[in-house]
Amino acid sequence: MEKTKEKAKKKVKVIKIDVDKCNGCRACEVVCSAFHATPRYSSNNPERSRIRVIHDPLKDIYVPVYAGEYTKAECAGRDKYVIDGKEYDECAFCRASCPSRTLFKEPDSGLPLKCDMCEDEPPQDEPLCVKWCINDALTYEEKEEEEEEEVKLDDMEIGLGSLIDKYGADKITDAVARMSKKG
Ligand code: SF4
Ligand code: SF4
Repeated sequence: MEKTKEKAKKKVKVIKIDVDKCNGCRACEVVCSAFHATPRYSSNNPERSRIRVIHDPLKDIYVPVYAGEYTKAECAGRDKYVIDGKEYDECAFCRASCPSRTLFKEPDSGLPLKCDMCEDEPPQDEPLCVKWCINDALTYEEKEEEEEEEVKLDDMEIGLGSLIDKYGADKITDAVARMSKKG
């Protein structure tokens, strides 16, 4: 069946992280965990935060890491980061909530945590971690991207449907097969 491609727009939300500006104050962790507490703002346990500031083993940089997708199994292989010639712990900057560590798991239930861009109720006009980062290590931007979407042509569907009604599906299938061989 002939299909046509039609471009649709989607809004993409981006938080840019400037590691050089992060001083490890953890205000982002505090506000995120408070926003997601039940009742709202009743506690500020960083273990409930969807952003964690990772202090690497060599204690010379802070890296804010956002909670990403939940994964059922840990990776078969591991990665190591080398930054400015220094080697960092494997898994240190990974965003996944996975069985190999406690990061990004709700402390009471063990359920995985994932950043929701503060779209929870009430939705915020800007992610709270960005608002609370007075060092501008986190900045927010929205952009539009085109996405490809296959759209069926209604009139083609109607036309094919009436041909099948008239001649039967087998005959139409044979005819299409013959035509494709000729091509
Ligand atoms: S609030 Fe900003 S500076 Fe403070 S730890 Fe978070 S990202 Fe780093
Ligand atoms: S965007 Fe909102 S949900 Fe995501 S880490 Fe920041 S404060 Fe938490």
